[in-house]
Amino acid sequence: MKQLRAIRGMNDLLPTQSPVWQYVESTLSELFARYGYSEIRTPLLEATQLFARAVGEATDIVEKEMYTFDDKSGDSVTLRPEGTAGTVRAAIQNNLLIQPQRLWYFGPMFRYERPQKGRLRQFHQFGVEVFGIEGPDIDAEILMMTARLWKQLGVSEHVSLQLNSLGNSESRAAYRDALVEYLSARKDQLDEDSQRRLERNPLRILDSKNPDTQALLADAPCLLDFLDDESRTHFDQLRAFLDATGVTYEVNPRLVRGLDYYGKTVFEWVTDSLGAQGTVCAGGRYDGLVEQMGGKPTPGVGFGLGVERLVLLLETLEVLPDALDQQVDAYMVAVGDVQSAALAAAEQLRSDLPWLRLQTHCGGGSFKSQMKKADKSNADYALIIGEDEAAAGQITVKSLRADVEQQTVAVAELAKILQG
Ligand code: ATP
Ligand code: MG
Repeated sequence: MKQLRAIRGMNDLLPTQSPVWQYVESTLSELFARYGYSEIRTPLLEATQLFARAVGEATDIVEKEMYTFDDKSGDSVTLRPEGTAGTVRAAIQNNLLIQPQRLWYFGPMFRYERPQKGRLRQFHQFGVEVFGIEGPDIDAEILMMTARLWKQLGVSEHVSLQLNSLGNSESRAAYRDALVEYLSARKDQLDEDSQRRLERNPLRILDSKNPDTQALLADAPCLLDFLDDESRTHFDQLRAFLDATGVTYEVNPRLVRGLDYYGKTVFEWVTDSLGAQGTVCAGGRYDGLVEQMGGKPTPGVGFGLGVERLVLLLETLEVLPDALDQQVDAYMVAVGDVQSAALAAAEQLRSDLPWLRLQTHCGGGSFKSQMKKADKSNADYALIIGEDEAAAGQITVKSLRADVEQQTVAVAELAKILQG
């Protein structure tokens, strides 16, 4: 029979890799807690209409990347390609927006893209969404929070912040007209993709990776020259807050985001350590989205952070803590007819030492083969019970790392030794 395999672009997370993920996940959830953010969990599957409306019909995601199908009753449903739309829906539906909300989420997202390094079909994002705060102080807060994250993870030197303002919808529309006019006069110099975007979503052309297009854009009208007064003040204040707290950034007037809902602040944290897939974290302000989704007008700002890319970055830069290699502190070896004594001793130790990660050998085998397993487990100690020890209510403790003599002691004594 042909062996079944996982769907292309959808990876298993194996036991050897999960400690790294657990490290990233706990670092992030603890960080969010330190800033007073609460977790929200929304379904993976939503009505297709939700994404068409929130993300935008003319975006890459909705045009070609969604996992969409009809369920058994004929309703069109979609595996979520991003987290903002569902969070906004949940916030409206559950009346969360009567007061400001600082929310975070974590989970899988699905996009039908060409799988490559740092680009998957099922990938994972952490995200933050803040509702009900319109000033630039909150924009600054989430950027400071991410800057702290890079510091904590030891990658500050390898990521940089790109910042821009898209203005309000009127100034964006005025800019759009100017850009379309400039590019239409040079249409024959644009690649096919950009020509298509010229009609559907011209701002995305600014994002083009094509060097010829980028050269053409050098003399194009600049988004920042079109900003309305309110957006300009917002942007200036945000920059002042970042300057005051030592978060460095580069203003990139060509930074636009691939989703329709952004206005005013947009940003990306990028690295050049990962090749083409260099954006680790991206977000911005979406003041019109809640109203567009049927809620009361409510400002919003947030970001999404790609976990696969972050893990790749931590591995590439070799900044993972050594302790991640060690999953257990002690390994119990039980030789002879001593299973019952070994299981009881192990339970006693787990009660006495709640921090202890103790793996007990099951399934028998020779002393030598069990000691090999103890060594392979990366534990600090082998705890050995043979028939003599079992009869005397004792355990032999042998250090697997340090050159110290082994001791045979009562189970209660052992807790004290391990504690030290
Ligand atoms: P890109 O330009 O790389 O396609 P995007 O603009 O589509 O990114 P967002 O929708 O802003 O990305 O998602 C936020 C983050 O999620 C990205 O910065 C990236 O780290 C991660 N991400 C997006 N798509 C994928 C994917 N297919 N596989 C892995 N990570 C992804
Ligand atoms: Mg994309």
